Amino acid sequence: MTGDFTFSIIKPNAVRTGKAGPILSMINEGGFEISAMRMVRMTQQQAESFYVVHKGKPFFESLIEFMISGPVIVMLLKRENAVEEFRKLIGATDPSKAEQGTIRKTFAVSVQMNAVHGSDTVENAHREANFFFPEKDRF
Ligand code: UDP
Ligand code: MG
Repeated sequence: MTGDFTFSIIKPNAVRTGKAGPILSMINEGGFEISAMRMVRMTQQQAESFYVVHKGKPFFESLIEFMISGPVIVMLLKRENAVEEFRKLIGATDPSKAEQGTIRKTFAVSVQMNAVHGSDTVENAHREANFFFPEKDRF
């Protein structure tokens, strides 16, 4: 895939409570095209490796436990300036600080259970995409 893309996860709380559909609608309405998508239950090793930059932080272990607590939806999203635009669409990590109309403001239930993940840099989008999607599974 050559165009701008970002990597996203619909987190376990949102999948569990039936918010995947409404979240996908907001993603489409935000101008993103789905390039790859899959439902997966992450293993502890996968989750620890995915979030390795947070290893040692006070919330790390609890975050891993949460992220493996149920299935998630992983996806690649295409759009011009995808990484930055998607971070705007999801809003701040802490939903109490997220702007009205953002996905996290709408669907997060706490800082941890903030409904979605979005890559924070183009470099991380590549790293995270490679984590879940071989080139042949991208459209
Ligand atoms: N997180 C948490 N407590 C915190 C900070 C973060 O549980 O104090 C969780 C939250 O689910 C967040 C994830 O860890 O989305 C990764 O944190 P980061 O700072 O990278 O936020 P993000 O990039 O997801 O906005
Ligand atoms: Mg982050």
